[in-house]
Amino acid sequence: MNPVTSALPAQRLESHIADSKPNYIPGDAVAEANRCLYCHDAPCVTACPTGIDIPTFIRKIGTGNLTGSARTILSANLLGYSCARVCPVEALCVGACVYNAWHRNPPIQIGRLQRFAVESVFANGSAATLLSKAAPNGKKVVCVGAGPASLACAGYLALEGCSVTLLEKRAIAGGLNVTGVAPYKMDATGALAELAYIQSLGVTIQTGVEVGKDVTPEQLLKDHDAVFVGVGLGGDSKLGIPGEAGPGVFGGVEWVEKMKLESGYALEGVRRAVVIGGGNTAIDVVRELAKLGVPDVALLYRRTEADMPGYRHELELARKEGVRLVERAVPASFVRTGDKLAAVALADGREVACDLCVVAIGQGKLGALVSSFPGVATSDKGLALGEPMTGTTGNPKVWVGGDVTGGELVVTAAQDGKRAARSIAAALGIKARENAPYLAGHR
Ligand SMILES: Cc1cc2nc3c(=O)[nH]c(=O)nc-3n(C[C@H](O)[C@H](O)[C@H](O)COP(=O)(O)OP(=O)(O)OC[C@H]3O[C@@H](n4cnc5c(N)ncnc54)[C@H](O)[C@@H]3O)c2cc1C
Ligand code: SF4
Repeated sequence: MNPVTSALPAQRLESHIADSKPNYIPGDAVAEANRCLYCHDAPCVTACPTGIDIPTFIRKIGTGNLTGSARTILSANLLGYSCARVCPVEALCVGACVYNAWHRNPPIQIGRLQRFAVESVFANGSAATLLSKAAPNGKKVVCVGAGPASLACAGYLALEGCSVTLLEKRAIAGGLNVTGVAPYKMDATGALAELAYIQSLGVTIQTGVEVGKDVTPEQLLKDHDAVFVGVGLGGDSKLGIPGEAGPGVFGGVEWVEKMKLESGYALEGVRRAVVIGGGNTAIDVVRELAKLGVPDVALLYRRTEADMPGYRHELELARKEGVRLVERAVPASFVRTGDKLAAVALADGREVACDLCVVAIGQGKLGALVSSFPGVATSDKGLALGEPMTGTTGNPKVWVGGDVTGGELVVTAAQDGKRAARSIAAALGIKARENAPYLAGHR
C-alpha cells in the first residue's frame, strides 16, 4: 500500500458533507460541452491563471475524446483535477464566459467539464502515460513542502527526466488540498487521487521530514542541482484576547484539518457555533458547520458586509444554508461556564452565545524558514521574494512559489510551480521538447 496516500483515517467528519457539484454523467457532459461557442479569442482562457486551452478541451469532450481533453488540461495545469473542483470559477473562467453578458443561458460549466475529463483518465488508469516523459537527465531537484505549488513544479520536472523529491513535514502530503479545502468542493480522497497521479509521473514523496529541523537548507543545496521552496503559510493568527487558549476555541485552519482528517472527531453537543472572520476560510467554515447540522451558526465580522474580503457568492450560499451574519462584531473575550465555552463577549457589550468558536482571521508567514536559505529575501510582511514570472530568488539554486510568496489559490500555486519548473529546466540546460508545451509556453 502507498504510505503517502493510505494515511487517511476511515472515520472522518468530512465524509458527512456531500459534494456540491458531483461529477457529470457522460450524456450531461456532452450536452454541456456542445453549448460552448468555441470563441476565437476565448475570454475564459485569459481568465484562467494557468491559461488552459478551454474551448479545445471542451470540444474534445463533445467528440468523446476524453483522453485528448485531459491531455490538453494537464499539459497547461498538472493540478487540473483539484483546480476543476476548487477554483472560484465564478471569479475566473466561468465568470468570463460570453454567455454571462447575454443573460439568456447560464455560462458554460468549465470546472465541472474539466473535472469530468480528468476524472475519467484517473478512473481508467491512463493518466500516468498521458504526457510524454523524457529520458533521465541526471539532474536532482528537491521541493520543500508537498502542497500544490511543489506538486506542479515536481511533476513537470519529473516529466523532463529530473530526479525529483518532495519533502513534507506532515504525515500526509498534498498541502491544503488535503487538509484545508472545503469537503463540499473536494474531500481528501479527491486530493489524494491527484497526489497519486503526481507520484505516477516519477516523483518521490517523503513525509515526516521538516526542513530546518530534520535537514538543513545548506544540506539540500549541497545535495541537489535546484531547490524549490513551496512551504505555504504558517499557523492560524490569534485574536490575542482573554480566554482564547481555553476549550471550545480553535483556529480556522486547525479546525478544518480536524474536521477533515482527525479520526472520530465529532460535533457532539454543539448547538451554537460562532466563526470569527470575513475571508474565504471563515465563510468555508460557517458553511461546513451548517452542512454538518449545527442548528445556529453565526459569522462575526468586525466591520460591515460591504467590507468583507470573502467571495460574495459564497456568503449568499452560506445565508441560504441558514448562517447569520453579525456585523461590527469586535471580540473582546471568551466567556465560559466552568470549563465549557458559553459565549463570545464583544467590545460593545453584546454577547453571542456559542458552544464552539472558530477564529479564522488569517495565517502567519514562514519568513524565518524562507530566509534560512542563503540569499533568499523576504518582504516586510514575511513573504518570500521571488521574480513573479519565474520564481527565481537571490540564490541561483533556489526558486519559490505558491502561498509563501503571497498567492491565495490552488490555481495560482499550480501556475507558480509550472513557471518555476520552466525556469529550473532552463537553468539546468534542459531543452524544451516539442511535446512538452508547458516548458515552451509563455504563461
Ligand atoms: C481553509 C482553506 C480553504 C481553502 N480553499 C480554497 C479553495 O476552495 N480554492 C482555492 O483555490 N484555494 C483555496 N485555499 C487556498 C489554497 O489552499 C492555497 O492557495 C494553496 O494550497 C497553496 O499551495 P502551496 O503549495 O503554496 O501551500 P500549501 O498548500 O500550504 O502547502 C505547503 C506544504 O508545505 C509543508 N511545509 C511547511 N513547512 C515545511 C517545512 N519546513 N518542511 C517541509 N514541509 C513543510 C506544509 O505542511 C504543506 O503541506 C484555501 C486555503 C485554506 C486555508
Ligand atoms: S484551472 Fe480553474 S480557472 Fe482555469 S479553466 Fe480550470 S477551473 Fe477555470
